[in-house]
Amino acid sequence: MRLHDTLERGLRDLRPIDGSTLRFYCCGPTVYGPAHIGNFRTFVMQDVFRRTLETGGMRTFHVRNVTDVDDKTIRDSQAAGVPLGEFTAGWLERFHRDCQALNCLPPHVEPGAVEHLPQQIAMIEALVEKGHAYAAEDGSVYFRIESFPEYGSLSHLDTRELSLGKTQQSRANADEYEKDSLADFVLWKARRPEDGPNFWKSPWGEGRPGWHLECSAMIQEYLGSDFDLHSGGVDLVFPHHENEIAQSRCACGGNFARHWFHITHLLVDGGKMSKSVGNLYTLDDLAEKGFTALEVRYVLIGAHYRKPLNFTLESLSGAREALAKLAKGARSLAERAGEGTMLDSVEFGPFESAWEALNDDLNTPGALGGIFTGLREASKLEGVDAARALAGLNRILRALGIELPEEEAAADVPAEIRALADERWQARLGKDWARSDEMRDQLAEMGWAVKDSKEGYELNPI
Ligand code: AMP
Ligand code: ZN
Repeated sequence: MRLHDTLERGLRDLRPIDGSTLRFYCCGPTVYGPAHIGNFRTFVMQDVFRRTLETGGMRTFHVRNVTDVDDKTIRDSQAAGVPLGEFTAGWLERFHRDCQALNCLPPHVEPGAVEHLPQQIAMIEALVEKGHAYAAEDGSVYFRIESFPEYGSLSHLDTRELSLGKTQQSRANADEYEKDSLADFVLWKARRPEDGPNFWKSPWGEGRPGWHLECSAMIQEYLGSDFDLHSGGVDLVFPHHENEIAQSRCACGGNFARHWFHITHLLVDGGKMSKSVGNLYTLDDLAEKGFTALEVRYVLIGAHYRKPLNFTLESLSGAREALAKLAKGARSLAERAGEGTMLDSVEFGPFESAWEALNDDLNTPGALGGIFTGLREASKLEGVDAARALAGLNRILRALGIELPEEEAAADVPAEIRALADERWQARLGKDWARSDEMRDQLAEMGWAVKDSKEGYELNPI
């Protein structure tokens, strides 16, 4: 697979360092509330990335952390009057439920920050010892960015207006600080009254780890100091990933991640999601509006990951139609393949172009287009040829994590309506137009619209 690399700013072939398993890390959710569909754009694209590699026969090792201690989790658990661990466990459960609904594969390892405190403290000790970190008067420990000349290489700081010299005196204690404020960042945060009971002992006194540190410590634990790929939403490039690189390379040596895969943000109605505008959607919000998680997934993979994706409710209706069309095509192919001819093939047949698109910088919209083209190409195939094409289709659908709806939603039509509509269809076939029109009106009075086509009719509630 060829994939864009943020560090090199270009496409690069992906080859596992150990020659067999692609080992990668994704920054996981901060569990202080339900994840929104923007977060899920990132997690779904990471899932397509992994599924594509696995469909191509590569083994993967997927590590994704859980941020279960930071400014926000502490603040909101305190406000809810619930112990931090209990609070974050509840939101993690919800996150898992959502991921499952979206058909995302669970990571192979999912470590939490709180259970990796000793590793984080050990990393700070190593940084202090090597002169990359210092304890300040406030009892916190900071990373000295001046001590790492390569700081800024991922986000290409050199091409931005900042310079290390200008701002090196400043310090940031908040987990998330302003973009473009270049500062020594916090590794260990001294205990504050508003943290309540959420503090731990360390050689520098009571406190808790800074947010950036947890990923470095867990990566060292599960992937070591050289691994294949690191991923997250584009907002993490600076400062989070820049800080991870600084911490890890200074504490552990090695080259850290070889490849950086960042997903561009999702926009809603052309702008940033916001609670006050009322367009910060969770899966539950969309379920209330009648949309399934698989329809959401379809929308999320409908745009290339390096382009902004503008989410609208109309795009969900479009996804429903596209999925129904896909399901119809797949059923027709299966009927022509006949029973007992399920083949597992390593070929993609008419879906080869879809597969190529996926392997070319994870071009998911190209892959979706390729599936529809493939279905048209396969529309005349019969028997074993159809079975082969069907196997190719199933493989590409697996790579995209698409599960097709079973049958069209005919089950919701009441039996008496269905009977009347069937009778009308017979009248139409017998060219009894008057009777057919009469029954159309009758159905309309009962709340159902009939739409005719060559193959049959469709019933929709009015
Ligand atoms: P968080 O739970 O805030 O730590 O974020 C989890 C993941 O979602 C991170 O990789 C973020 O970069 C990503 N993310 C946050 N907002 C968006 C968005 N609007 N679109 C895409 N990814 C996002
Ligand atoms: Zn991280």
